[in-house]
Amino acid sequence: MTTDRDGWAGHPKGLSTLFFTEMWERFSYYGMRALLILYMTAPIAAGGLAMETSQAASIYGWYTSGVYAAAIPGGFIADRLIGQYRSVLIGGIIIALGHFCLAVSSMPFFYLGLSLIVIGTGLLKPNISTMVGSLYDEKDTRRDAGFSIFYMGINLGAGIAPLITGALAQGLDGKGGNWHWGFAAAGVGMTLGVIQYVLGKPRLAPAMDRLAAAPTARKSGVPAQPFTAVEWKRIAAVGVFFMAAVLFWSAFEQAGSSLNLFADRMTKLEALGRPFPSSWFQAINSAFLIALAPVFAWVWVSLKKREPSSPAKFTIGLLFVGLGFLLLVPAATMAQGSGVLVSPWWLVGVYFLHTIGELCLSPVGLSVVTKLAPVRIAGLMMGVWFLATSIGNKVGGYVAGFFDSFPLPSLFGAVAGTTIGAAVILALLIKPIRRLMGGIH
Ligand code: GLN
Repeated sequence: MTTDRDGWAGHPKGLSTLFFTEMWERFSYYGMRALLILYMTAPIAAGGLAMETSQAASIYGWYTSGVYAAAIPGGFIADRLIGQYRSVLIGGIIIALGHFCLAVSSMPFFYLGLSLIVIGTGLLKPNISTMVGSLYDEKDTRRDAGFSIFYMGINLGAGIAPLITGALAQGLDGKGGNWHWGFAAAGVGMTLGVIQYVLGKPRLAPAMDRLAAAPTARKSGVPAQPFTAVEWKRIAAVGVFFMAAVLFWSAFEQAGSSLNLFADRMTKLEALGRPFPSSWFQAINSAFLIALAPVFAWVWVSLKKREPSSPAKFTIGLLFVGLGFLLLVPAATMAQGSGVLVSPWWLVGVYFLHTIGELCLSPVGLSVVTKLAPVRIAGLMMGVWFLATSIGNKVGGYVAGFFDSFPLPSLFGAVAGTTIGAAVILALLIKPIRRLMGGIH
């Protein structure tokens, strides 16, 4: 195998191709997601679909859950049928078509667009991650750093997107734009991603060779060996992480639903004396993530032996997502009690706490699942990790469905209580989980 060090910071050249493909894909996903629930609930006169909040939240929950659940068949199709390169290519084209459908103002196109994005993302999202991993030989120590750079690409796209789609859809001053232009911009972003992916194909050759050469039991049809006792224990540990992740994402992924509605309806949309569109709040998490990721990397390294174990980091993740919702309780009390629009700083604070939680849980989860999974079911375990996000999105959509019918301080308080309670339980389980992990941190 060639050692490919000609790209960014001594990484393989293919990393930048995959970085920009995922950046544009996440640009389209989050650019559209920032608008979705606002568009569905906006009155007809404002160009929206005038849906009840509960119905819109339910569609939002099904859609965002579907996008991540589709990663399981998407991974399977790549492994067994068409390979990772083509899955990502076809997925990207389908996603772009989906966004362009939403650019058309008609109900059948609305549902067709959502379905296409679900299918396309299922083909693209898991397989592009597999390709990143395949840029490196099995023992290559650059792999973790490669994934960190890739996660930056995700958040660069996710952070810039709402600023552009939001300005188009709601106007720079938030006083009215055209929703469909916002959706079209998402489609343009994905199209740019597909073009640069195709142009970068030669850079991906080493990854594709490695994938083609991998002698997986699944490909050759060799029956899998039974799991050993150690493997069973590790799978049980993944089960615990999975449940914690479901709870975490149920709260965190309300960013696009209940927190988006809170921004739109109950927050003063003005900063430095200038009005701005509510969807711009959707950029804050990514901005914090890009700023804080290097800090966290440094903190973990400098703690050396005292670096918290993965279950301890999961506990911190759950705690912080809960603290974010706890911070919303006084804000919601003020907004609903006196009917005033609250300061935008409340939500900035919430996203700050949520980003800390995300940094303790999301990258840690990806890496610990790959380490704990027996190699012969590594692909399946990656699918299981995305399934936690899928279920989390569904539950989050369900909770957001009560936005209009339930007192908001109680709704947010219940989310805070559940996640903080789960953090306490997980804290008590750290030691037994570490025993299950059998030497893996
Ligand atoms: N923000 C990350 C991404 O879009 C992680 C999302 C998740 O797994 N819930 O890839």
